[in-house]
Amino acid sequence: MLHQGSCHCGKIAFEVEGDFETAIDCNCSLCRRRGSLLAFVGVPAFTLKTSEADLETYTFNSHKLQHHFCGTCGTAPFSEGVKPDGTPMRAINLRCIPDIDLETLKIRKWDGASH
Ligand SMILES: [Zn+2]
Repeated sequence: MLHQGSCHCGKIAFEVEGDFETAIDCNCSLCRRRGSLLAFVGVPAFTLKTSEADLETYTFNSHKLQHHFCGTCGTAPFSEGVKPDGTPMRAINLRCIPDIDLETLKIRKWDGASH
């Protein structure tokens, strides 16, 4: 199923293809502050519909992940990175997709703080 997602003000908008039934709740130093619920998808499933120039980017720790956020409203809709096998991936914040019923998601805890 194709989902439309965005930051709060709409400056960052995207489409993502997938059936999202589970979400990852990570306890790393960034996720615990942002409160995001994540799903990982391959690059072909993800289309950024707004300008790349509107993506603000934060990195920390190993700097392998680019955590994008909106400079206007502060929402963090997705991050970019690569899987351990080198395949590019996107980490989607499912909270930024209004048509997903967050109550129905099965939450998987990820101990990012220990990794
Ligand atoms: Zn925004």
